[in-house]
Amino acid sequence: MSSGRVLLVGAGPGAPDLITVRGAEALRGADVVVYDTLVARELLALAPAGAERVDVGKRGHEDPIRSQEEIQALLVSRARAGRVVVRLKGGDPFVFGRGAEEASACRAAGVPFEVIPGVTSALCAPSFAGIPVTDRRHGSSFAVVTGHKDATRPWTAIRWDRLATAVDTLVVLMGMRNLETIVETLITEGRDASTPAAVVMEAATARQRVVTAPLGELAPRVRAAGLSAPAVVVIGEVVRLREELAWFEDAPLFGRRVLVTRPAGQAGGLAALLRAAGAEPVCVPMLRVLATPDGEGVADALAALARYDALLFTSANAARLFAARLVAAGREPARAPRAICVGTATAGAARRVGFPRAEVPGERFDAVSLLAALRGEAAGRRYLFVRGASARSLLPDGLRAAGAQVDEAVIYRTAPAEVDAPALRGALVRGELDALTFTSPETARRFVALLDEPARRAAAGLRIGAIGGPTAEALRECGLPPQVEAARAEMRALVDALAEDFAGRRAGGHETGDRR
Ligand code: SAH
Repeated sequence: MSSGRVLLVGAGPGAPDLITVRGAEALRGADVVVYDTLVARELLALAPAGAERVDVGKRGHEDPIRSQEEIQALLVSRARAGRVVVRLKGGDPFVFGRGAEEASACRAAGVPFEVIPGVTSALCAPSFAGIPVTDRRHGSSFAVVTGHKDATRPWTAIRWDRLATAVDTLVVLMGMRNLETIVETLITEGRDASTPAAVVMEAATARQRVVTAPLGELAPRVRAAGLSAPAVVVIGEVVRLREELAWFEDAPLFGRRVLVTRPAGQAGGLAALLRAAGAEPVCVPMLRVLATPDGEGVADALAALARYDALLFTSANAARLFAARLVAAGREPARAPRAICVGTATAGAARRVGFPRAEVPGERFDAVSLLAALRGEAAGRRYLFVRGASARSLLPDGLRAAGAQVDEAVIYRTAPAEVDAPALRGALVRGELDALTFTSPETARRFVALLDEPARRAAAGLRIGAIGGPTAEALRECGLPPQVEAARAEMRALVDALAEDFAGRRAGGHETGDRR
């Protein structure tokens, strides 16, 4: 009972990886997550599978699903029942999020609470637009103001008359609905109509849009461009710097929505690389990875482990699940023979789970190049190939042909993940995706099996990226030939190849012609 408490956690705005390390840690330990609509959905996946997740629907000031009182009562009652409650709020919990009221409610009820600050949109939105809120040359003070006209707080409570000229940079949150009035008031109160100003919408996401204009022209320009909430208004000389410092929109995959088909729990690396390249990853796992701790050959392998010269891993799953099997049997991965890995990601996973001396002899990080690298040393060696049920036989066959003895242990298999197929088909047909990525032949086949004819046609019109030869081959067989193939079988190379493809098409002027 005594452990019940409320953690007010700032999720940061837009991109899920803008949460703090401490905030992410809090989510991993949550029994209950109470979240606002603006919070990035990917963050909810950090909470344990069994945690209760409650959407309270706040989107700034608009249309709450539950009243503030109900939210507070919910936090207090769950904490009193002994649960660790993460109250996940957009940006920073104490910047216009009514987080303070929620903390007050906890205090009044005698419920312990903690605050984990977040990256506020007041700072993040200007940053992602290339606008520093302070700069020695243009501004040494800034103020953050709400532009929301709250019925319970008279408009006059904001001292626009003082604010208009008191600080160099003004940042207005929730200002879209009243933009005209805000601008007019500021000018009436003495701010020059020629002051540079900007509106930054959906900052830090692939949907980010920015309009800049002199203050006096801001509202009509923003309306004409169709910008809407959530957006931040920035007013001040610092806005000039955007011309020189805009950076996010220059990211090679900025604005692209890219489908990630990797299994849940393994999509993170690719998603993070895509996000860093400016894209919005859309994760729809096609397969689930199931451990088969007593799969074919596993018991024999464990009994004879010391006889092998080396273990062969061609996937991170194999390394991870084989280590788990060893530990379950009271053995130490550190005492296992050296681990020969297909690529750096597999080797990284192998090292993390405790295999010593994880090596990557191949250059292209695929089975063909691994086999080529091992052929010279293979004669007379004994290898244990730890694999998934559907792994290809190219590597073991090739090594046997080169004079090695290869035993195999099947440590996992894959099964179809649950996919909302109508939603996926809808997203394809409506043109909500720009590119598709595939990192295994099985994933490609499962994806195609979910499509109907219109969705398949739509998919064929997108940029399609494959991580390696076998995946590309499977896509061709399924009628979705990839135009983009990674130079070697790793996530970074796949993202680089996709970025190059889009850059080339932009430069080549194909852009408008090819896209619907
Ligand atoms: N506590 C939040 C603010 C909540 S009020 C924070 O610290 O960021 C909601 C307002 O935040 C929106 O009306 C908008 O002005 C701003 N906002 C939130 N996310 C945003 C985003 N990704 N881009 C631009 N503005 C955003």
